[in-house]
Amino acid sequence: MTRNAGTQPPMPEQGAMGSTRRHQLTCAVCGRVFASARPQALYCSSGCKQAVLLQRRHEAGWRNRHRRCPRCGSVFVARRSDGVFCSGACRQAVHRKRTTHMKAQA
Ligand SMILES: [Zn+2]
Ligand SMILES: [Zn+2]
Repeated sequence: MTRNAGTQPPMPEQGAMGSTRRHQLTCAVCGRVFASARPQALYCSSGCKQAVLLQRRHEAGWRNRHRRCPRCGSVFVARRSDGVFCSGACRQAVHRKRTTHMKAQA
């Protein structure tokens, strides 16, 4: 009766090839489950993305200001970008030592 029995092409799945396919993802910031067209999306909203960018920038700046005092070896956060010593006492101590050392050697 039917000549083309068994040779029917598979039916294209409705929506599978469409662009409206969404992925269930969890926001890396607030932990909310959200749907996104991009499987690699990390954040539910631009607000969460902005929060991460700000935090990252803040951490980078904080790390850059994290220094180890060359005199006492303690780690401190430099208040100024050119701060080298943990305190004025250490800075003066090194300065004094350097000058007295030079005088003693000379
Ligand atoms: Zn979020
Ligand atoms: Zn120090």
